Amino acid sequence: MNTRNILPNYIGNQWRHSSALEHLDVYNPATAEVIGAVPLSPAAEVDQAAQTASKALVEWRRTPPTERVQFLFKLKILLEEHFDAIARTITLECGKTLDESRGELRRAVENVEVACGIPTLMQGYNLEDIAAGIDEMMIRQPVGVCAAIAPFNFPGMIVFWFLPYAIACGNTFIVKPSEKVPLTMQKIFGLLEEIGLPEGVVNLVNGTKETVDAILDHPTIKAVSFVGSTAVAKSVYGRATVNGKRAQCQGGAKNPIIVLPDADMELTQRTVPESAFGCAGQRCLAGSLAITVGEARNWFTNIMVDAAASRVVGNGLHPNVEMGPVITPESKTRIEGLIQKGADEGAKILVDGRNTEISGYDNGYFVRPTLLDDLNPDSEIAQTEIFGPVLSLIHVNTIDDAIALVNSRNYGNMACLYTSSGAAARKFRYEAEIGNIGINLGVAAPMAFFPFSGWKDSFFGDLHGQGQDAVEFFTQKKVVVERW
Ligand code: NAD
Repeated sequence: MNTRNILPNYIGNQWRHSSALEHLDVYNPATAEVIGAVPLSPAAEVDQAAQTASKALVEWRRTPPTERVQFLFKLKILLEEHFDAIARTITLECGKTLDESRGELRRAVENVEVACGIPTLMQGYNLEDIAAGIDEMMIRQPVGVCAAIAPFNFPGMIVFWFLPYAIACGNTFIVKPSEKVPLTMQKIFGLLEEIGLPEGVVNLVNGTKETVDAILDHPTIKAVSFVGSTAVAKSVYGRATVNGKRAQCQGGAKNPIIVLPDADMELTQRTVPESAFGCAGQRCLAGSLAITVGEARNWFTNIMVDAAASRVVGNGLHPNVEMGPVITPESKTRIEGLIQKGADEGAKILVDGRNTEISGYDNGYFVRPTLLDDLNPDSEIAQTEIFGPVLSLIHVNTIDDAIALVNSRNYGNMACLYTSSGAAARKFRYEAEIGNIGINLGVAAPMAFFPFSGWKDSFFGDLHGQGQDAVEFFTQKKVVVERW
């Protein structure tokens, strides 16, 4: 246990030290240095946060939306002022490059900007004279106390798929960050403190499973937004909904990228390596399964071998580094084990990123880009989310074979197609059973005013994060029929 820098929770506008007896160290994955310690907050602290948030709700939901969004305008300004410092913290605890950290933070800010439109976005509708002298209207009201549970791979962005919309709609909020990357939320809650929100509108409780279970079982918490691995997403969804809560739970992914023979080679070369190896493959939109059609096989394989072998790996804080470490030593071991599993199942290792050594970073958790070729589509490696810088290649003969392969997977987060044929693109867009589609780009990340969609085992729920879906999720509809 590390007692040097145990992070506080933020409850009722106060930074409070947790009564937790257990703490987990937080590491810089590039150096393995301890950079903090996170408390495993007990249920009693979730209860404090829920009670405080519940008290705050009384006045907050009565605050006009035009006034509520003033806090978001201030938050946007502060996020811009502290942009680089927060990006550095993301890189420090998560390992990704500074550019990648800036990218995720930019999307966080964009969500704040979109939520500033809540006075328009949360409007209902009405119809006069549904019968003589009788009018009917639908109004949206907040759901109550809501909570978000976040994964490690986007310490700054993912909470923003939910929090700005929730509070702008008049809800109060609890955040449970990933215990692996809790420092970024400390910084962001510092800014939330600065904008002067009323006591209890936003709260931060650190921890792991026990803390999450306390959120899921707490009767005062009415809605839960979860992002993480599929197994946990599914169980969180089950427990939250059995307990009568709204839930939106985003899970894992194994995202296919189809390359047709008529694809633009230069564009493919420029963007697919970024999809596969950006954020060290620890991105739920990472392209992890490349499906080449016909003669795309040779040129695409050559492009990817070069890209994998030449990517500059190191500490994400260094400006020339193109790929940082993976998050933990366990993650490195798991990824390397899956590469071996692929080989055992018959795949050819074209580029092997195991046993990586980075000069000056002997203790960092590095895995270099890896290419596995000629997978059997039914093998385990072709279906398991590796969540590391590993691209697997499968070769088929027709676009129909490729789309059938995409649709045979359990996940449905993202799929991309590279082609110069509009007809092929349209066919793919129409037929793919996938929530986020990319055409001639490798990371189809929806902007804040679109839902972060995801289908099949990549999502449990109905309404997604971001944009109008978030407004729907964080409000309940009331229908009023009036005669005067
Ligand atoms: P994870 O499932 O291990 O953890 C996510 C959160 O759940 C953390 O806050 C963690 O403390 C908590 N948690 C872990 N185990 C739990 C349990 N048994 N019961 C209750 N809570 C538990 O995920 P991770 O490793 O932090 O993140 C990586 C995963 O997230 C990948 O699978 C990735 O694809 C997925 N992800 C999905 C999206 C998406 O939009 N679909 C976005 C980002 C990440």
